[in-house]
Amino acid sequence: MVSIYGQTLDDLKSQFKENGLNESGASLIYNYLYKKGHESFTIANLAKETIRFLEEHYELTIPEVSLESGEETKKFLIRFSDFEEVECVLIPFQGKHTLCLSSQVGCAMKCSFCYTGTQGLSRHLEAFEIVGQLMAVKKYLREKNLEKTISNIVFMGQGEPLHNFSAVRKACEIFLSQHGLSFGREKITISTAGYLPGLKEWSADPLKVNLALSFHCPDERIRSELIPLNKQYPLKEVLAEIKKLPLEKKRFITFEILLIKDLNDREEYAHQSAHLIKDMSPLINIIPFNPIPGSSYERPLDELVERFREVTESYGIPSMVRKTKGDEILAACGQLKS
Ligand code: SAH
Repeated sequence: MVSIYGQTLDDLKSQFKENGLNESGASLIYNYLYKKGHESFTIANLAKETIRFLEEHYELTIPEVSLESGEETKKFLIRFSDFEEVECVLIPFQGKHTLCLSSQVGCAMKCSFCYTGTQGLSRHLEAFEIVGQLMAVKKYLREKNLEKTISNIVFMGQGEPLHNFSAVRKACEIFLSQHGLSFGREKITISTAGYLPGLKEWSADPLKVNLALSFHCPDERIRSELIPLNKQYPLKEVLAEIKKLPLEKKRFITFEILLIKDLNDREEYAHQSAHLIKDMSPLINIIPFNPIPGSSYERPLDELVERFREVTESYGIPSMVRKTKGDEILAACGQLKS
């Protein structure tokens, strides 16, 4: 048995075809599972033999979810069938929600400022486990009549999404399907530390969602201290690869700049950053460091953060400071751990 939540519409169609079933049943199932939140295969209008086929081959389990904490920003613990766990975070924004998903249990990147990195990588998530996080949170919201409020998805939870790109791609295809959840492509963002092999896979076979790069510092030496992966795949090469990604009209690339006191918060880095990316349809998202247990890094002064923003903005790059949400419950960026 495999999970139905890991099947793209095309997967289902081809399996139906191979088994002599009517392909149109696939969009009907998508409609019931994802639009109506149905949790069984007994669907009116679906041929009896299709229902039997589904029951024999697919399971409908949604991972267990428990609300860990949070008044506004809510952190959920998601438990899979092998008892591995990840966290995902629901962030309110103007009456809607952004859902921050995990792509791996733990992470192999070991970024020096990130709590998830301290636990190492346990395993990749499968597509159905990524979709399962959304389904589990939707189910939680349904009880409050809020299930339709998830408007954006960001891969900024645990894990490096481009290190598990095939599963992330598949999950995105499921999110994008117009017969199901029908997220707009501009509503999904994959954030990467700069994992070059994954970027290459992406540019070879474009997936039409947004990209965010954890840019952090234009100085290669400092960036390597922050993101050890930079020693293997330097920023210069990562930027060159990103330039190859086909970008549609009106699309932007988000550059996340995590600022740490007395390390990379200097004004000259703001100038250098702007120079490097100004021709890449950039948006800059400045993230003041969120303290994590056991780290000596500190949050930068507000004046320096604002100065950094003014400088990049002066190059015509829309720049904003990410307001920290959820740090009181260790649910802010980089604070997730299983
Ligand atoms: N692996 C991906 C996505 C996960 S992290 C990536 O690296 O982009 C999502 C964002 O949170 C990244 O920009 C990351 O650099 C940032 N982040 C991690 N730890 C943080 C911390 N302690 N404070 C603030 N931002 C942090």
